Amino acid sequence: MKRKPGMITRFGNTRPGKMEIATVPANLEPGTLAVRGSGTTWAVYLGSERITRFFTFHEAAYQAATAIEHRSRLVERPCLTCGEPMLSTGPHHRMCNICRETAQEIA
Ligand SMILES: [Zn+2]
Repeated sequence: MKRKPGMITRFGNTRPGKMEIATVPANLEPGTLAVRGSGTTWAVYLGSERITRFFTFHEAAYQAATAIEHRSRLVERPCLTCGEPMLSTGPHHRMCNICRETAQEIA
């Protein structure tokens, strides 16, 4: 499946076909997402839009927000070694997992 860089269509324990998650722009700045709720109902918001399911615990929603921010910074780039598209976390991360493992075996 081809995935657009930084675009998240599904997150967490949502069932297939039950899309609760909005697309999230790439390169979210830390702090862009807000965890809102009270009692046993918490969710992650981007502006006024809820982008996750509801969580029972604030901590779970906070972790979801952190994971979404992390994923939004992934960019699809070709691997420097084999040219296969890969999800890169930044300029320092330009080799796909397979090539990196091979490089470690040689070293
Ligand atoms: Zn590679």
